[in-house]
Amino acid sequence: MMIDQKTRKLLFETVANRVIASADELTDLDRAIGDGDHGTNMRRGFEAVLAAVDELSAKSLGESLKGVGTTLVMKVGGASGPLYGTLFLSLGKSLCDEVSREQAAEAFAAAIEAVKARGKSDAGHKTMLDVFLPVLAELREGGEALPARLRATARRAAENTIPMRAIRGRASFLGERSIGHMDPGARSSALIVDAVADVMEGYA
Ligand code: ADP
Ligand code: MG
Repeated sequence: MMIDQKTRKLLFETVANRVIASADELTDLDRAIGDGDHGTNMRRGFEAVLAAVDELSAKSLGESLKGVGTTLVMKVGGASGPLYGTLFLSLGKSLCDEVSREQAAEAFAAAIEAVKARGKSDAGHKTMLDVFLPVLAELREGGEALPARLRATARRAAENTIPMRAIRGRASFLGERSIGHMDPGARSSALIVDAVADVMEGYA
């Protein structure tokens, strides 16, 4: 598919509005196993994306994704800012305006590796990666009703972080007590996947 300026703007706005609308939920999750700032952090970052959306989406997909990444690094803060920033910056490095599913999967895989390297984290550590990795597997599979499947996979994957014990991030300080709560970054990742899937569906 061709991701033109109109689609880039729609994509960034849809993702940003979804995250902003769920800021309170993200903060509540972070209050349980962190310091209660994930929602405010993400809202601040994505409000900055919204404020600059015309300027950001005027550039090529690669450059505009890098712009989103830089904005998130500067505005989100916390552990999640540099990690989401790394994700978007890495996606921006690999993607051109014309994107096939295979190219999107390859770019997402490289971006996940960059996040892993930055966070010294991996699957099962109760982080955003526990959503990204199953979503990548689904994206690689392709096939029928992909956006709906990506959405369902992301939601399930975020729920699957509930019984996990955190190995990375602030929640890891709680040890056993991190068990029984959804990881806030996994939830924000699922929200982002949800928004991207909505935009993909608008295409089909
Ligand atoms: P902070 O923990 O600094 O307050 P946030 O609350 O904004 O930052 O973000 C917390 C989220 O960041 C966690 O729920 C987790 O998903 C993610 N996270 C934290 N550390 C790592 C890491 N090393 N690797 C991957 N994700 C991480
Ligand atoms: Mg926090």
